Order: sequence, then C-alpha cells, then structure tokens
Amino acid sequence: METELNPWLAAETRFNRAATLLNMDEGLQKVLRTPSREITVYIPVLLDDGRLEVFTGYRVQHSIARGPGKGGIRFAPDVSLEEVRALASWMTWKCAVVNIPFGGAKGGVICDPSVLSQGELERITRRYTADIIEFLGPEKDVPAPDMNTNEQVMAWLMDTYSMHTRQTTTAVVTGKPLDLGGSRGRREATGRGCMIVALQALKRFDMTPENTRVVVQGFGNVGGMAANLMSKAGFKIISVIEHDGAVYNPNGLDIEALMKHARESGSVVDFAEAENMGRDEALLLECEILLPAAKENVITSVTAPKLRCKIVCEGANGPTTAVADDILKDKGIFVIPDILANAGGVTVSYFEWVQDRQGFFWNEELVNTRLEEIMVNAFHDLMAYREKHKVINRTAAYMLALDRVYFAIKLRGLYA
Ligand code: GLU
Repeated sequence: METELNPWLAAETRFNRAATLLNMDEGLQKVLRTPSREITVYIPVLLDDGRLEVFTGYRVQHSIARGPGKGGIRFAPDVSLEEVRALASWMTWKCAVVNIPFGGAKGGVICDPSVLSQGELERITRRYTADIIEFLGPEKDVPAPDMNTNEQVMAWLMDTYSMHTRQTTTAVVTGKPLDLGGSRGRREATGRGCMIVALQALKRFDMTPENTRVVVQGFGNVGGMAANLMSKAGFKIISVIEHDGAVYNPNGLDIEALMKHARESGSVVDFAEAENMGRDEALLLECEILLPAAKENVITSVTAPKLRCKIVCEGANGPTTAVADDILKDKGIFVIPDILANAGGVTVSYFEWVQDRQGFFWNEELVNTRLEEIMVNAFHDLMAYREKHKVINRTAAYMLALDRVYFAIKLRGLYA
C-alpha cells in the first residue's frame, strides 16, 4: 500500500505507460523523468512567543522546455520532497494538456498553518521567497497558490521579490489580489474548469445537469467553487465531504447556504437542510459524478472497487492512485484526469501573467470565455488521443502532454 500511495511512483507509472505507447526515445524519457532542478531551503523564523524555529521548504522545477516553470506553493505538515516532485511533474503535463506556454514547478513548506499566526505565516513566506529568489522571475519560474496558501501569501511573495529586485514585478506570481495585478475570475477558475469539462463529459453521454447527481469531496477553493458553480448550472450536489464528516441531501444541497454554515461553524456537518453522513459512506454514494477536490490518494485499490459513480472529475491533484486507474477502467468509469480537470486554475494564472505583462486587464466575461475555449479544446484533444490510441483518458492525457513537451525539446535541441 505504501508504494501505491507514493505520488512520485504514481506519476512515474503513468509516465512510463504513455512513453512506452509513444515509443519515446529512451534518452528523452530519462530527461523527462528527472526534474531539472530541486531546491531545498531551511527557513529560520522567529515565532510570536520568541522561539526561533527552522522550517524546511522546497521548490522543484520539473521542466522549463515549453516556458517558465509554473505551479503552486503549498503549506502543510506532511509536505515531502517526493510529493512536491510529483506535483511539479504534473504541472508540466497539465500546462502541456491545455497548451499554455509554461513548464512545470511546485513548491512546499513543511508547516502547520492552522497553528501559525498571520505574522508567522508572513515571515515564513518572505524568508522562503528570499531564499529561492534567484530561481524565480516572470521568465524563470512563476509560483501560485495551492493547498493552504492564498492571495495574501502571493502578495507577500510578490512584495518580497519586488523589494529585492527594486521594482514592482507583479508577473512573478499569480493568484494575487485583484488590486495587485490579480486577474478577475482566478479565484473561481479551478472550480469553473471542473464544471466546463464535466459539461463536456455529459454531452458525450447525452446527460443533462438536472439529472446529474454530484458528490464533492473537499470544500475548499476547488471543491467549494466547483460545487457552487455546478449547482447554479443545475447539477444536483447531493453530498459534500470534508475532513471532519459529510452531509447528504438526495434532493440536492443549497450550496450557498452550506458555504455560509461552514464559514460560521467551521464545518459542513450539522447543516440544517441535510443529514450527517460518514465520510467513507458518502464517497461510495450512488451518483453520476464524483468530484474529489482535496488531496492525493482518495480513490485507491481499497475505495475504487466500491465506487458507484459514472464519471470521476479530478479537481484535486493526484486523487486517484495508479493501481486504482485499472480498477476504474474495468468498472467502465469515465475519468476526467486531474491534468485536464483542474487545469482551469493554471489557465487563468496564464491569463493573469499575460495581463500583468501587458499592464492591461480584462473583464471577467473575457476571462471566462477564453478559459472555456481552452478547456473545451483540451477536452477534445484528449478525446482524439483516446480514440486514436484506444487508451483510457488518463493515458491519453499523458500521451498528449508528452507529445507536446517532447516536440518542444526536439525543437530546442540539447545544449551541450
Ligand atoms: N496550484 C494550482 C494547480 O495545482 C495552480 C497552479 C498555478 O496557477 O500555477 O494547478
């Protein structure tokens, strides 16, 4: 089980499958299997109680073949180099699937934000940024929010970078507040992207949102936004699962009311218009779409055989293990893989970067229209690979991404 849950091994398994089917050159496989740079920094930070603590931070740049490194920074107690390495490679494939001009990178700091004050978080963010500063820049590597980081953290990062370089450089990071060069629509973008590809999948099966029951696991930026937008579009969100329990209403939950309840009480459980349910039970509810939008390793060799959904739409990065891929295939479940399903976030990050560099900002409608165009095209590109190579969606997504990155490397040639 430990091997199954190792995200880097899962990334390698998917990569190997696709590279073999593409008959990819052995040498290039080696290049793409190895990250181009891994940075580890030890961050001394003064805590509010006067103690000095040293935190460990990582930034992994997996590939810059198609453009600057791009990817979020997460703050969590269980961050590991292997996890960040896997997430960095997923960013490379994700940016290639939606065909935006970025490579892949990811960062993480081992810390528990739930016990840190704003001041402590700010000091961690600033020192982490300063310690990796020579590797960052609008043309080098452009971070963004991820688990437990937000617009405020991105603002501190932008300010620290700008103070060092002696010029305000908004394009060094995306997911910033609107007043500091952020993009309209960025906050909702990952959830909106999930909805766009879910609608494409429904079309394929002649289904309508009104007859589609959705179980959402995770109610943070991705799950919360996806649930809200999908419920407004007519989908029936019958269950929301969070870390401390789940709620269930067979007629569909009022997501805005649930959001209000979660904000006020700190949890989705005990919501008046629903019944409480165990998390494991809720995951196995009969539904049309299961939308895992929290962490890695939710659909595993243990849970996959018991799922009762038609479609899995992966809002999170790596929610399904490589072993579970085969189980879902045997069950005939249509998977919209993470590197497509959650690519809406990085796509609007791309728009943010473009707007910052132009110094000219778009209205929300334009952002959403362009996002839809990119996501729909990527969905169809993936379907074309699926039909052509007769493979499952996950493999098709990797093959599409590998082809694009491989082509860029071939064109650039090897600097020796
Ligand atoms: N952290 C998000 C992801 O995993 C967004 C990355 C970005 O916008 O660069 O895709």
